[in-house]
Amino acid sequence: MIPLIHEGGCQCGAVRYRTSDQPVRVIACHCTTCKRRTGAAYGIGVYLKDTDVEFTRGEMNTYEFHSDESGRWLRNEFCNTCGTTVSWTLEMRPGLRAIAGGTYDNPNWFDVLAHIWTRSARPDMSYPDHIKVFEKALPPT
Ligand SMILES: [Zn+2]
Ligand SMILES: [Zn+2]
Repeated sequence: MIPLIHEGGCQCGAVRYRTSDQPVRVIACHCTTCKRRTGAAYGIGVYLKDTDVEFTRGEMNTYEFHSDESGRWLRNEFCNTCGTTVSWTLEMRPGLRAIAGGTYDNPNWFDVLAHIWTRSARPDMSYPDHIKVFEKALPPT
């Protein structure tokens, strides 16, 4: 079987990555943290197995903080030059790594599974019928 290879990177092109295989899950998150990280209405996290993500170029800085909801750490990784957050890891999801969905060269190759934290979503948001929508975090699976 040919592995699913997809590439992407930051806005200036200094940081590049390559991912293989299907994501474990893809989540659109409307929490305040994702709004601030992206400057957008919501953030898309493509969660992959750590071993399926390879950084091929560039230097990144990290910013670690603690969720005001769970108290657990989140660690953003962003380009030293342009500041784009391309990836993050979470204490809550060991062994997984999120790629910021919008940084893929083709940001539409994956399907979004669910929208979460919609209690802080913009009031003008609407969701397709086939998408799961949760007021808060994704329920434990
Ligand atoms: Zn950059
Ligand atoms: Zn979020």
